[in-house]
Amino acid sequence: KPIVIAIDGHSSTGKSTVAKRLAKQLEYKYVDTGAMYRAVTLFAMRNNWIQEGSVDEAKLIENLSAVEINFEYNPESGTNDVILNDENVEKQIRAMEVSGNVSSVAKIDEVREKLVQIQKQLGEEKGIVMDGRDIGSVVFPEAELKIFMTASADIRAQRRYNELKEKGENINFEEVLKNVQHRDDIDSNRKNSPLIQSEDAIKIDNSNLSQEEQFEKILN
Ligand code: C5P
Repeated sequence: KPIVIAIDGHSSTGKSTVAKRLAKQLEYKYVDTGAMYRAVTLFAMRNNWIQEGSVDEAKLIENLSAVEINFEYNPESGTNDVILNDENVEKQIRAMEVSGNVSSVAKIDEVREKLVQIQKQLGEEKGIVMDGRDIGSVVFPEAELKIFMTASADIRAQRRYNELKEKGENINFEEVLKNVQHRDDIDSNRKNSPLIQSEDAIKIDNSNLSQEEQFEKILN
């Protein structure tokens, strides 16, 4: 019987990598909720409503109804790309600048309300793996399997740094480490739906686990 798998945890813990693999193996739908928060952030940045890390919340809230977010299967990557108002923005939302601003957008109540509503709809049909920060606590408190992923900040930053370097981004390690810590800090301390481990979640510290080991562990 298909179930809901909620994968939450700190930034850059490899949640989406393992979630995608699980979805493929189980023939489930995969939803990357971080991509949705990133898309709203890109929308705000393009409208110049984010200046030096400070978000014009009133403007963004006022125009939230003009934000439409969808997912579209990409046969090349074998997973879903995020679509912002009919434009595929999968690549743009991964830029360092978006990562730097996303947690400030994700803490806005109205933004969360809108996205959580979409996420709940996406999960109405079971057989889904969803990853994020509040999936087990807010979006699907009834999820049959909840995973909470974490690892040391240094290890997470190193992994993310290697990934960005491979993509040809011009960044330094310190910058990536700062971003990971900055997001942990805002995500864990915001008032609405902070990042916390649900009581019924299984914690996986993958500091010393390979991707294969994490995958097997969750699958079991
Ligand atoms: O998962 P990812 O790192 O791409 O998420 C980007 C940011 O979006 C997180 O740092 C967090 O601020 C926000 N987010 C959230 N709730 C979720 C998913 C992501 O607040 N369910």
